[in-house]
Order: sequence, then structure tokens, then C-alpha cells
Amino acid sequence: MDAPLPKGFNHAEVDQKWYAFWESIGAFRADPDSLRPRFSMVLPPPNVTGSLHMGHALNHTLPDIVARWKRMSGYDVLWLPGTDHAGIATQNVVEKQLAAEGKTRHDLGREAFVARVWEWVGQSHGTITGQMRKLGESVDWSRERFTFDDNLSRAVRRVFVSLYREGLIYRDRYIVNWCPRCRTALSDLEVVHTDTAGKLWYVVYPGVEGQEAVTVATTRPETMLGDTGVAVNPSDERYRSAVGRAVRLPIIGRVLPIVADDFVDPSFGTGAVKVTPAHDPNDFLMGQRHGLPQVIVIDEDGRMTAEAGPYAGRDRFEARAAVVEQLEREGLLAKTTDHQHAVGRCQRCNAVVEPLVSTQWFVRVAPLAAEAIRVVEEGRVRFLPENWVKTYNEWMTNIHDWCISRQLWWGHRIPAWYCRACGTMIVAEEAPAACACGGILHQDPDVLDTWFSSQLWPFSTMGWPDQTRDLERYYPTDLMLTAFDIIFFWVARMIMAGVKFAGDVPFRTVYITGLVRDEGGQKMSKSRGNVVDPLEVMDEIGADALRFTLTAMAAPGMDIPLSEGRMAGYRQFINKIWNASRFVLMHVGDLPARPAVPAFETLAQIHRWILHRLNQVTREVNEAFESFRFDVAADRLFHFVWHEYADWYIEMVKGHLQASGAERDTARAVLVEVHDSVLRLLHPIIPFVTEELWQQLPRRPQDGPTLTLASFPAYRATWVDELAVAEMALLQGFVTTIRTARAERGVKPSAKVGVTTEGAGADERRALERLAGYVRSLAGLSSLTFAESVAARPDRVTRLYGEIRVHIDMPHGDRAGELAKLHKKLAEQQAELARVETQLGNEAFVAKAPAAVVEAARGRRDRLAAEMAKARATIEELEG
Ligand SMILES: [Zn+2]
Ligand SMILES: [Zn+2]
Repeated sequence: MDAPLPKGFNHAEVDQKWYAFWESIGAFRADPDSLRPRFSMVLPPPNVTGSLHMGHALNHTLPDIVARWKRMSGYDVLWLPGTDHAGIATQNVVEKQLAAEGKTRHDLGREAFVARVWEWVGQSHGTITGQMRKLGESVDWSRERFTFDDNLSRAVRRVFVSLYREGLIYRDRYIVNWCPRCRTALSDLEVVHTDTAGKLWYVVYPGVEGQEAVTVATTRPETMLGDTGVAVNPSDERYRSAVGRAVRLPIIGRVLPIVADDFVDPSFGTGAVKVTPAHDPNDFLMGQRHGLPQVIVIDEDGRMTAEAGPYAGRDRFEARAAVVEQLEREGLLAKTTDHQHAVGRCQRCNAVVEPLVSTQWFVRVAPLAAEAIRVVEEGRVRFLPENWVKTYNEWMTNIHDWCISRQLWWGHRIPAWYCRACGTMIVAEEAPAACACGGILHQDPDVLDTWFSSQLWPFSTMGWPDQTRDLERYYPTDLMLTAFDIIFFWVARMIMAGVKFAGDVPFRTVYITGLVRDEGGQKMSKSRGNVVDPLEVMDEIGADALRFTLTAMAAPGMDIPLSEGRMAGYRQFINKIWNASRFVLMHVGDLPARPAVPAFETLAQIHRWILHRLNQVTREVNEAFESFRFDVAADRLFHFVWHEYADWYIEMVKGHLQASGAERDTARAVLVEVHDSVLRLLHPIIPFVTEELWQQLPRRPQDGPTLTLASFPAYRATWVDELAVAEMALLQGFVTTIRTARAERGVKPSAKVGVTTEGAGADERRALERLAGYVRSLAGLSSLTFAESVAARPDRVTRLYGEIRVHIDMPHGDRAGELAKLHKKLAEQQAELARVETQLGNEAFVAKAPAAVVEAARGRRDRLAAEMAKARATIEELEG
């Protein structure tokens, strides 16, 4: 019979067809009325205007495996998808589009700008969700949410008002991180600190009325225009008499008191520092301690204010250079030194962040953090790998209040209204009609940090604050799988919010994944040009091959060096499965339904062996998924399918399939059983190709319309036969020994050789005799005999397998030609070895080359030496 399958797997056609089918039959839909046990997860919502990157590919594939495995194992699975409005990120994209048209958001005005962002969101929403479908994510699209949905926005207002009433949200004038490019406040987490080569300028502040001058050191001289004091450490002997005196601020002329404060580090610069309360967070606090005024010299655009005297209106960095120049001219610059220091930049636009004093909204985090630490301590939330608990606890115990207001237009507007007539502020879930005094109310123009809504995601998506059926059944969720870089932004805040508002932890287990890196282990980045685009990879090799690669490499706590070689290897694996299916369908395709496997004890040995191994792998895969060892599951399946099922069983079962009657029926039943199980076991990792293949197999009535909803294999206590496994291992080792010797001697695959064994134990002999038929066909033997002692013959090659001496009578071939080939190859290897040894003998190479390169050279040398020893032995045999 002809194979009904095409020669190769055309992923582009197959993948889309099955995804559309799964969606059309509601295969991923959760059912709260189901009697099955529940399993739930929420997908970390990607940015609505984003595009799938390799980090997503990993962090969406792994939970998809869990969702598919649980669904097949009899659970009612909710995997809830959605997207995030991503305040600052999305606003920046649209502002860039406007800039290209020569406009700013101010040219449009707030309302028109927000409308424009909605338009962009509408256009690009389909991009990311389409990419998620392409990857095969089995999410419940009927429950898709957006952080800006009405109900999610209502949840945001409910949480804000409730925290405000408890005194856990407050409004205050405080120093915050300010991005002059985005023109908004940022939380500490949104500032990226990088070590930068800068300067330390030593500036002389002359004493007032003939008193002694004081020299201070600063990395940001432009801010000195806003100084309102000078500080020293109270224990610093050098300045004991200076405290209480005053100096005069250069350029501006303001008189500055010298104060003593423990915060000052005596070893920095001269031990005396300038105090600029309006432009440095530490100085802000010091200013409060000593009652020093705040003088604002830099504005929200990063320009110098009128308070900056001669520099008013100039850019902050221009002003820096000009201030230094003036100090130098006036002889007030004592010295300049090079200085490494951390410079904070905006996470979104890379502009240098400016600490500014402004009025903002804050969450008092400490009381919420205390609860969140407790639930982790009690084991109600489990971190994997466990070492992340330490990082989590450290951060949570040193947590600062969270600045939640942003001076943006795209986001949840702060639910606070002000009356200009009487000065009242009203915080409420819904807009109040008017002030009690009759005055008009104006809503706070600021919006909330994007993470304020993201932190509610596990329960706002299920309908909170309403008490919904979904919340009751699916909250808390079981698993949150995410990258380490958002533990603080998101995971910690979800735990705080969940415990506070939803009455329980948001998830039972947090699995933290590593980073996907390039082949050499470097972080992928646009500037390095080493970014691998998952969409291109999927176009080229298919979603399944990408998914299998990421899964096989996802060892806990390890980063993933993504290599072309591995991806190509796993694509080959998928071809191997495809080809095995062609073989199977050729032999069982005409069966109307899947036949039952006869009782295990009655089966021939190879059937008992393959079912035993399948059963073991089934157990290992279930255990691996249970413990999130995705890499182990992939490895076991790869090895079993390729090296046991395809390479051995399929070869050995051919004879049985060509027989007739019960022997053939049994072989067909076992073959289809194993093949069906393999497809089920692989389905969570590679859903598309397995569905395509499974649909062609004869099925049982209870199997249903899709592999996605078919049952996952479970361990069977009866399918155990250790003896069959031991004997098959013997057969494989014995056959491989003969095959290797044949290959070394260049014997054609079609040529038959005679084999005589010597020294086989009684058990081994019995097993080999029983399996002799397979051995002869697998090793290409004309005869297999057992002897007590064997005479040497010139054409007889002897190999050792365990205790067994395997004598192989090689056919009389072209001995001279074979020898010539071997000598030529040996000479090439000799030359190559000499090159590698010269390289390794070069001290400069060994000292300077990357360790991996040196290691590779050493490996090559050892491999060459081993290969050459083998070739010499063969030559010796042939020369006899
Ligand atoms: Zn910025
Ligand atoms: Zn009023």
C-alpha cells in the first residue's frame, strides 16, 4: 500500500490548519461546571503593541506544555491570555510616530492623542496574538483580557481607593526619578544604573567674612547652583571647627550653612559635600533633617530654571560645561579627577534620569511587603529554583515606597478630583458630580504606573471585584512561569496585591526561567546584532522544532545558549518521527479502528521489550512534567523515539509484519499502540506535527476529535519485563560490535559475513540463540555459530563484546585497496594532529584564546589520537 502521508512535514500548511481547528471546536476553553479537577494559569500579558521575542517563545512554550499535559491528563485547564496596555512603552512608540510627522503629543492634545494610541493598539493587537497562535499556545481566547478593559479598570480604581482610605496610598511632594525625555516620574525599578566614566570636580566655596574656605567634590557641578548647604561628618576631625560657620556659593553668591550629618562619607572627595535638596535624593532627606530650603535649578525638560542665574534656559549638560569653565576662570576649581560612578538612565528611552522634587502619588509598601514575605515563608508560594527566595526576601525587606503616578496620557487615570474653589480633594471609584461647595472638580491629570494594573492580573482577569464563578474555581492559580527580570516589577507585587485583595496568594508555584542567549552564551541585543527572531525561526523550521529546542535546553536555573546546530538537530528529529509514521501507516493504515494489544505475557519478546520501555518512558515523562524538568522529558523522548523505537524496534518488527495471521495482527496492534503513545507523549511539546500524524492513525471510539483532548499515557503496572530489556541490550551491543567492525573494514551493507562466538555465558548464549533471527538480519550475517574455541584465520577479525569474543569472517574483498585508503586517511589525520599540537604548544595561544577554544582544540587532539590508534590496529589486522 502507498503511504498516505507526503514525503516531508510541511509545517506552514499543517500548523495553521490545526490551530484553527482547535479554536473552532473550543479545545482550549475552560469549563467551570466541569467535574474534572481544575488547573489554572494566567499568561504574563505581553505588551499589546509588542512582538514575540525569544524570551516570550521560551516563557510561553513551557507553560503551554504544562497546560496541554494537564488537559490530556484529565484536568479542566484554564490558561488565561491577554495583553498589557504598557503605558510608557506604548506612549513612546506613538510619540515616535508623531515625531516622524513633525508633531508632538501636545500638538494633538490629550484626547486626540489617546484616540491615536487606541487606533495603534487596535492595529497591532492582532500582531502579538497572531504570533502566539503561530507558536501554538493553547490559551482560552474566549477569556482574553486587556489591562484597559472596563472591568480591569474598575479593579484598578477599587484597589486605589481602598489603599488610599487605609492610608497606604498618599500624595506628597518628594524627590523622584524624572525622565526629561518622557517627561514623567519613574519608579526606582524603571531606572537602569550603569557604571560610567565621569569626573570629580573639586570646587572651592569661599568663607563668609574672611572665614576659612571649604572645598567640596561633586560629579554634577551644574546642580551646585541649587545648593543650600554644605555638610561634613560629625566625627570628621578636619571639620570640627567648621560646623556652624558659613560659606558663599560661587556664581550665585548665596550664603550656605555648614552642617554635620552622619550620612556624609568622610572618605569621599574632601569629606565635605554640597547639599542640593531639590536635585539629589540623599540631599533631599538631609535638607529635611536640617531645615535647608529646596532651590529648583533644573526643570522638567532638563533645562536650567531662572534660579540658575546666568545659566537660566540652558540645557543641563551645556550648563555643566559652562559652570566648570566659569569656576576655572575664577580660580575656584581646585582640581579635577577621573571618577567611575553609576549613572541612572530611563529604562524606556535611555535619557539620563534627573532627580526632581515634585508632587506624586505613592504606595506605602512596607505593610504589604510584610504579608508577602510571610506567605512565601509559610510555603504558600513556592519559588523554583528555590534560591530565588533569598533574592525576593532581600528586596522585600529593603523596599521603598512606590511612586505610582506618571505624567503620561496613556494609562489608568488617577481617581482623584480637586476643587479649585475650596481646595478639597476627593478620591473615589466613580467621578463625583461636583464639590460640596458647588465648585467644579478637575481630575488629576496623571496616570498610574503600568504595573499598578499588572499586579492585579491574576484576579482582575477573572472578574474581581465581583465574586465570579471563575474566581471561585480558578483562583489561586497553580503556576506562574516567568523570567527573573520581572520578579520585582511584577511577581512580588502580584503576591502583595493578591494576598491583600483577593484573599489568597495569586499562584502556588513561581517558576523562574533563564535567559535565551546566543550560541556563544552572549546576551541577545540589537547593538550586538545577535538577536534571533523566533518568527523567522518558525518560518524556517516550524514552531514544533523551535519548541522542542527550547524545551530540551530548559534546565532549571540555567540560561539557554540557542544554537543553529541544536535547532537543526531537533528538526531532524521531527523528520524522524514523520518517517516512522510513514512506515507505520504503510502497515496499519487500512485498519478500521485501533486494535487492542493482546495480553502482555503472550507477546513475543521484542513487543514486550518495546512496551516495557514505552511504559518506563511514560513514567519518566509524567514525573519530569510534574517537577518542571522539561529538559528531562524532552531528552527521554528523544532518546526513546530515535534510538530505541525507530532504530531498533521498527527494524525488528518488519519480519513480523510480513508474516501472516496472528503474528502479523499482534505486530500491527503493538506497533500502532507504541506509535499512538509516542505521539501523545510528544504532543505537549510539539503539538502540530503530532496532531497531523495522529489524525491519520486508526483510533478508538473514545479518542475524540483531536489529540489535544485525547488522554495522556499513564504507567501500567503490568507492562514490565526486565529480562526482555536485558536481552535486548545484549542484542543491541552484540549487533553494534559487528556493525562497527564491518564499517571499519569497509564491508558493503549488502555483503553477508559469518560470525562465530566464543566465551558466551549460558544465559547470553540462550538469549542470542533465541534472538538469532534478528541478529542475522540486523548485522547482515550469513551464519551465527557458537563454539568453545575458535582457530585463527587470516580473514577473521576478532572483537570483544563484554566477555564474548566475536569472530567475524570478512569477505575476500579488495584488501590492497582497503589498505591504501586507510594509509591515506591516517596520513591526513597525522597532519591534522601535528597542526593541533603546534597550536597547543604555542603558549601565547593557550594563554590568550578563550577557554572554550583551547578546550575544543584539546578535545580535537584527543579524538584524533584515538581515531588513529583504531586505524593502526585495523591496518595491522589487514596486513596480518
Ligand atoms: Zn524616558
Ligand atoms: Zn469645593
